[in-house]
Amino acid sequence: VHMEQALAEGAECALTPAQAHHLGVVLRRAPGAALRAFNATDGEFEAELTALRKERGAVRIGPRRREPVVEPELRALIAGLKRDAMGWAVEKATELGATRIIPVLTRRCVAEGGKTERLATIARGAAEQCERLSVPVVDPARPLHAVLDAWDGAPLLVAAERRESRPLLEFLPGLSAPCAFLVGPEGGFERAELDDLARRPFVSLASLGPRILRAETALVAGLSAMSLSLDH
Ligand code: SAM
Repeated sequence: VHMEQALAEGAECALTPAQAHHLGVVLRRAPGAALRAFNATDGEFEAELTALRKERGAVRIGPRRREPVVEPELRALIAGLKRDAMGWAVEKATELGATRIIPVLTRRCVAEGGKTERLATIARGAAEQCERLSVPVVDPARPLHAVLDAWDGAPLLVAAERRESRPLLEFLPGLSAPCAFLVGPEGGFERAELDDLARRPFVSLASLGPRILRAETALVAGLSAMSLSLDH
């Protein structure tokens, strides 16, 4: 279980209602069950479920199993997808090491991708499932130009299947964190949006090959390549 609060051996920590529900109703765990509790600041600890009743529960923290690690900052900017596709994209981005997920609104977006809280819950579940210590932050959806105007200058690779893109692989050798990856909506970027992106000094247009990929596929392909080269 991912815990927001500070973890230290001997501490007693409350579970969130969603965690208590998941452990009791979905996983059928009872007090006395062994768990692991973790967060990015303190690492991972053995833990024991000490109380569980309906939406309330607590764990006692045992010895530390893993020290905290510093993860490379990798932001995933995802143009608004339909609710289910966005949930899937957030899950995969979490598994692939994204540290921040920024839903962005572009001209051809069909949807906003659903509520931020729901996406944050998906990110937390995915982090727990893949035994990652940190949970990516999920931002509320914002217009792409607003995100770009407030950008801190970190390299942003934009998945663009146009002729002026260079293969994504070319950007990987020099890549360092913080960095980011942006995938367009199912309908693609408009010409004016690509022009606006291309004139920003921190943006590189990157191709993922000759085939037109679904937005979710492009996200997974690009983030896999980037996270593999940042991790090694
Ligand atoms: N309807 C668009 C078109 O024909 O131009 C295709 C959009 S594609 C389904 C959705 C998004 O995935 C694109 O905006 C782009 O960000 C990314 N994408 C898909 N295939 C790609 C490729 N081969 N290289 C780079 N990005 C790609």
